[in-house]
Amino acid sequence: MAPTSGPRTIAWIVVVLAAIVGGITVEAPAGYEPLTIHAPLSRSSLAKGKDADAGAAEVDIAPPRLLGTLAHLHNDENLVLTTSEPTDARFTTFLADRVTASSHAIDPRLLALLRTLAESHPGARFEIVSGYRSEKLNEQRRKKGRHVASHSQHSLGQAVDFRLVPPGEIRGVDPRVLEKEIRATGWDGGVGVYTMASDWFVHADVGKNRRWNG
Ligand SMILES: [Zn+2]
Repeated sequence: MAPTSGPRTIAWIVVVLAAIVGGITVEAPAGYEPLTIHAPLSRSSLAKGKDADAGAAEVDIAPPRLLGTLAHLHNDENLVLTTSEPTDARFTTFLADRVTASSHAIDPRLLALLRTLAESHPGARFEIVSGYRSEKLNEQRRKKGRHVASHSQHSLGQAVDFRLVPPGEIRGVDPRVLEKEIRATGWDGGVGVYTMASDWFVHADVGKNRRWNG
């Protein structure tokens, strides 16, 4: 405040108080900073304002929240899974066909599914068994006679095979349990359940709603 005293200061204080009570904008007298008061500062309005700000903060400035990790079994690559990472583009690269070094855009609903499942298993490690598979890789797999018949979805970037390993555990969640959890999210695509000890994973795709045991 500018050095001043006496009636002028008192008058200014009265103006400010009137502004606070009335919720109005006032012009500052010469020598003072402009003052703008947008709303009455009552207790209730402060509380409402605080709530409104908190709601906005969640949308605008909430930092990414750690959900777990993504571990690709074929090359030991790991990614942190948060509410914002990886991006869909990074996830596509992550799920690229490592044999032919080709990739295909991965349907974003698959990454969203992993995030949703992680909400029930904080800190989980998702072991990616298979993501995008080129027709060439699919053919190689087919000749070996394993896990291919229903898997054209992999060649469309519309499927992912994975395990969900809770923190501190070695063995993943039972694929039959995981199937139920996937359906509980409202998943309307395909779910394959592979319970052989050497498999122990689920297949999820965005194709037609169907299920099978591997
Ligand atoms: Zn699959």
